[in-house]
Amino acid sequence: MDIQHRSDDAARPATDEAFVESWRNAAYNCYSSGHKFCREVCPVYQVTRDETYLPTAFHANIVAMEQGLVEFEDVARDYVNCTMCGACELRCPNTLFVGDFYRFRTRTVDVVRAARTLAVDRGVEEPAWSAWNAATDRDRHEPVVAEVGVELSRAWASSFDLPFGGDTVLFVDCEAAFYRTSLPQAVAWLFKAAGEPIGLQPEPWCCGGPAAEMGYADQARRFAEHNVADWRRAGARRIVVLDPHDYISFTEDYPRYFGDDYDVEVVLALDLVAGWVREGRLTPTLPINTRVTYHDPCRLNKRKGIWVEPRALLASIPGLEFVDEDRVTQWSYCSGGGGGLAIARPEVTAELSRRRVARAADLEVNAVVTACPWAERPLSNAGAERGMAVIDLLELVAISCGAPIEVPGWVR
Ligand code: SF4
Ligand code: SF4
Repeated sequence: MDIQHRSDDAARPATDEAFVESWRNAAYNCYSSGHKFCREVCPVYQVTRDETYLPTAFHANIVAMEQGLVEFEDVARDYVNCTMCGACELRCPNTLFVGDFYRFRTRTVDVVRAARTLAVDRGVEEPAWSAWNAATDRDRHEPVVAEVGVELSRAWASSFDLPFGGDTVLFVDCEAAFYRTSLPQAVAWLFKAAGEPIGLQPEPWCCGGPAAEMGYADQARRFAEHNVADWRRAGARRIVVLDPHDYISFTEDYPRYFGDDYDVEVVLALDLVAGWVREGRLTPTLPINTRVTYHDPCRLNKRKGIWVEPRALLASIPGLEFVDEDRVTQWSYCSGGGGGLAIARPEVTAELSRRRVARAADLEVNAVVTACPWAERPLSNAGAERGMAVIDLLELVAISCGAPIEVPGWVR
């Protein structure tokens, strides 16, 4: 079946005028409030202390463009400095207080994405993003490690006897497929333990989400078209994802690309496993005698509202002492791993992860548990500097259920 495209005008403004027109109302809303509550929560601002990178400035740029005070080229690069965590949207009184009444929500993440897309279309490219997306376009996978490719993307599964295709297919993101291989291994093991069939995607390509976030809209859509066609060829009706970034791509971007033609169910592995534990189909039995805290991934918590299930899973592990942060639920901290920031501004990401791990250390824990492969690399780097282990929640559950997996930096 041919895939019908729907227009995605707000995320893909054709001209400066269309960009301003799409976002002028939101921009004036922000400009008139003047309190900058987003300063309290923006992770990039907290490290850089540069107000040019605040949502206030992102919106004020649009007002200035409308009034002819700046050209887009003057401000395009400011929008690189955002992890797309969504914290500012939640903290903004335009969402918090006015939103309930007028059904208005500040959409900084969408403003940033539209600005980045316009920047790429206009040739105002961030050099690191340009090189990264060119490599991804060539190899069909992000350059997470030196060598990538379809064969290598399934190397993690070599010790599992998994079929290709089937009703339920596991999509493994580039970071997990090439770098954090213990995570898909944990998930495949948990599926076997629960007696649930799962298959491999025959020709997985990058989900395209990071390309979309960096403004490479055509590439993102091309990759999406490939993946959807590959799922159909494989007979897949349900796609299981282990990365919150993929979850956003498949539940927000893909439906926008394909409209009613998008007919797959997208499920988060974490939700499935939490359900199996709740129903008694999986029981963590091996004690893990250590003290941990949980890092809420921005895309899971702030953007999708998923924070209860991870805590229920942690509570199911015998021996585990779980200490929650002071900022739980939607006020959680950011690792700096999202929105392409780690590629363009690695020093800002590293500092954000350092601060995140330092907050965990204040709780006197031995490990940070996460649920996002893109957060795990910068957090692990920061953790290694001070002897703090970083482990994925599903890796931890699998270990407690008896899985013979080796997790980097984790001593049983
Ligand atoms: S909190 Fe909202 S209204 Fe206030 S400056 Fe930030 S984006 Fe604008
Ligand atoms: S989405 Fe996150 S990083 Fe981006 S401006 Fe808002 S708070 Fe800052």
